[in-house]
Amino acid sequence: MKFRFLLFSLLVAFSTISCLDNMQKANANTAEASEGTESETNADSDFKYWTWITADASRTDESYTEEFKKYKENGLDAVLINTDTDPELLSRLTPLAKAEGLEVHAWIMAVNRPGDKVALQHPEWYQVSRNGESCFDHRPYVDYYQWLCPTREESRNHILSLVEGLAKVKDVETVHLDYIRFPDIFLPIGLLPKYDLEQTTEMPEYDFCYCDVCIAKFKEMHHKDPRDTDDPQIDMEWKQFRLNRIRDLVNDAYKIVHENNKELSAAVFPYPEMADHMVRQRWDKWDIDYVLPMIYNNFYNEELDWIGFATKQGVQDLEAKNTELHTGIYIPEMTPEDLTEAINQAKANGAKGVSFFDGGAFTKEKLEAVKAASEE
Ligand SMILES: [Zn+2]
Repeated sequence: MKFRFLLFSLLVAFSTISCLDNMQKANANTAEASEGTESETNADSDFKYWTWITADASRTDESYTEEFKKYKENGLDAVLINTDTDPELLSRLTPLAKAEGLEVHAWIMAVNRPGDKVALQHPEWYQVSRNGESCFDHRPYVDYYQWLCPTREESRNHILSLVEGLAKVKDVETVHLDYIRFPDIFLPIGLLPKYDLEQTTEMPEYDFCYCDVCIAKFKEMHHKDPRDTDDPQIDMEWKQFRLNRIRDLVNDAYKIVHENNKELSAAVFPYPEMADHMVRQRWDKWDIDYVLPMIYNNFYNEELDWIGFATKQGVQDLEAKNTELHTGIYIPEMTPEDLTEAINQAKANGAKGVSFFDGGAFTKEKLEAVKAASEE
């Protein structure tokens, strides 16, 4: 309980920062109810509208049905539900969303697993920084940064078993990987002032994973130790090694969900080279059905047209792949007009849909903007 309280406090304290990926939000699912309207026509039925939401087991079925109905009436097609990796809760909510005509996607915090009761019994499963400190007890940036090693067999199997549990839930469309990367070696520029940080080089306390297993496996492949160099950031094999560990985890997750007749999706950084630079994530090289890049312009001090730029970059980078790109949009700081423009930027630059972070941030006016866009 104490930990939960601490986590809650941190979530409130870092409410903006906590959306680096799609962190569960303490105030999720409290969207204002909108006046229901009748129209069911959806003119651009090929363009999909999604929203991320965080579930709360204490809420009633009726309140969920009301929330799902509200989304459907306003043009949304799909919900990505964070149940804190609880297949039972997901099994309860999926038929409720389906009954209202929504697709359901099982959202999991994959490599960063705050408060994971099984993992916490195995301190050696956690990532280790270049300073030699483990995420188990030395968390970079914030207390909820509790990253598991993607190389070590036991920790990666743990993550994959959780993916499998969600993939087995009836009627789920995809398992949706979030935090499928390394900790931020560079934070988004718009967030740095909140931490009173300057990051012009790769700093050892934010550089992962230097655990025994990662080092041994790298040595076996490349006959050198990244700890022996003064400047590991220019060692391309070491960078590639880590990109490939995340890729391998994703590709294994892809096999597992497909064996269960489901598909795989992920929340990723804005475009592949930026993701590579900031979090060692190269999503254009993965086996994956859908990517939802979090093109959160305000995190990067960018304007709305940057949503179009980043969308187009990702779409071009995926040209040779069978992966659909749906643009992730961060709505709390947007006006309804901004939201309309953001949707237009995504559409005009080749996205197959847009996903909103998050459901709790929808006002009546913002939902109306989505509805109007969906009927165009
Ligand atoms: Zn490791």
